[in-house]
Amino acid sequence: MSDPVKYLLDEQHLPRFWYNINADLPEPMFPPLNPVTRQPLSAEELEVIFPRGVIEQEMSTEREIEIPGPVRDVLRQWRPSPLYRARRLEQALDTPAKIFYKYEGVSPTGSHKANSAVAQAFYNKVEGVKRLTTETGAGQWGSSLALAGSMFGLEVLVYMVKVSFNQKPYRRAFMEAFGARCIASPSDTTECGRKILADTPDNTGSLGMAISEAVELAAQNDDTKYALGSVLNHVLLHQTVIGLEAQKQLEMADAEPDMVIGCTGGGSNFAGIAFPFIGDHLRGGRKVQCIAVEPSACPSLTKGKFAYDYGDTAQISPICKMHTLGASFVPPGFHAGGLRYHGMAPLVSHLTELGHIDPRSYNQLECFAAGLQFAKAESILPAPESNHAVRAAIHEAEKCRESGESKTILFNLSGHGNFDMQAYTDYIGGKLKDLDYAESEVAMALAGLPSVD
Ligand SMILES: *Cc1c(COP(=O)(O)O)cnc(C)c1O
Repeated sequence: MSDPVKYLLDEQHLPRFWYNINADLPEPMFPPLNPVTRQPLSAEELEVIFPRGVIEQEMSTEREIEIPGPVRDVLRQWRPSPLYRARRLEQALDTPAKIFYKYEGVSPTGSHKANSAVAQAFYNKVEGVKRLTTETGAGQWGSSLALAGSMFGLEVLVYMVKVSFNQKPYRRAFMEAFGARCIASPSDTTECGRKILADTPDNTGSLGMAISEAVELAAQNDDTKYALGSVLNHVLLHQTVIGLEAQKQLEMADAEPDMVIGCTGGGSNFAGIAFPFIGDHLRGGRKVQCIAVEPSACPSLTKGKFAYDYGDTAQISPICKMHTLGASFVPPGFHAGGLRYHGMAPLVSHLTELGHIDPRSYNQLECFAAGLQFAKAESILPAPESNHAVRAAIHEAEKCRESGESKTILFNLSGHGNFDMQAYTDYIGGKLKDLDYAESEVAMALAGLPSVD
């Protein structure tokens, strides 16, 4: 038999614990602050919008946090996800590098986001919450929370960035199929939305605005809480099943990665695959280079400022120390909608400052080209977001071809692109351009950072 191309774990090898990197940080993180008082947030303040189970995880410094049985029972439907050896891609690239990818597109919603949606829905359900509100950009997070809400019997209300709401009718249909309500943001259903519409009636929305609308409703209603799809510690925690499984699968393959690669929007899928490896190193193990890949048109980690900033447009959510382009910055409309957020997960930012993460950026055209090259070799069409990780993996494999080094590369294929065919239609039709962000707009947005002393 020829060498294997996929490494599968049995259901019984689904991790029992999430890995919390907070336990191993060489320096503690900066605490999130109340946006009004600018004082560190208490658990009680967070209870207005989040369930206690989630807040405990947000603040925990315990290394291993048990995954509740009912959450594992749902995750088992598609987890452990497969790890593939990209043999045909290696051949096509004529590289001595070994390329492995962890495939998160096997979830029912087609991306890693379901991993956290299920956990968040569970903690809300056990605390008697009736309704969840959230934001969604391209629709992957909204779809995942819609699915998780229907599994645990919760109503779900999704504010979808208006430009995507109009461009991606199938994502909306998916959410509605699972019983969720989907509203184009900015909307007239919230105070924040009405204020934005009064100033700019044609506003096409942003993630920051949609977050404001969803948080406002959760803060005003006792039976309603808010769920965030990335950025916060507990979301990154829930995604660590990806890296924990990959570590076992690489052992099966008798391989040790030299580098781990993930794309970064808010930072959750990258953290999910990379944190277990960074954690091993922080506890004295071997160092693996961890590469976070972002779009050149929204380069928070590579070009942003490490500072306290608002998470949303209306400035009602906690302020966090992170790499940011400024909360009022609206990124240009490139196709990787899941990567269009002004900030970055505080944990990813912190570890980047400490030198444990290497950030880099690529333009969208080279990412689509890499995605199609990958698809032709491996027969999976990646999500436009995931193409950024693919681009970096191919780049590294090409460097090995030049140098003759045989490095082992692991990357996270965070989702499939089957809901993103318009993006591919535009790319193949030659309609896409590389977009640049306006430096003057970032400068203006950064001038609006909250002052914290
Ligand atoms: C949302 C999304 C991302 C970006 O979000 P992160 O929190 O940075 O992971 C990346 N890939 C896919 C497929 C997504 O749906």
